[in-house]
Amino acid sequence: MTDETLNLYARARTVWGSRLQIDMAIEECAELIVALQHAKRSRPADIEDEIADVMIMCEQLSLIFDTTTVSSSRQRKLARLEERVSLAERLDLSITQRASMVRDKSK
Ligand SMILES: [Mg+2]
Repeated sequence: MTDETLNLYARARTVWGSRLQIDMAIEECAELIVALQHAKRSRPADIEDEIADVMIMCEQLSLIFDTTTVSSSRQRKLARLEERVSLAERLDLSITQRASMVRDKSK
C-alpha cells in the first residue's frame, strides 16, 4: 500500500469510524457474492468492480484489525495453497476429486 492509500484509509476511518467501515466491508462482500452468483448474466466489468470494492475494504479491515497478523496469516495460507496446488498437479485427479480436496482442507 502506498502512503497516499494509507492516508486515504485513515481519513475514511476518521470520517466514518471502524464500525461503519466494517459494515461497508460486509456490504461489499455481499455485492461480490451476488455478482459471482449471477456471473453468467453479469458483465465482467460488474464482477471486476465488486472485486475492487472488496479488495479496498479488505485493506481497510486489515488496518482496523491487526495488519501484522493479517500479513502472517496471508503468508501461511499462501504456503498452504502452494502445497495443495503442487499436490494436485502431481496427482492425476478429476476436477470433482480436486474440488473435494479443497472442501476437505479448507479449515
Ligand atoms: Mg460494490
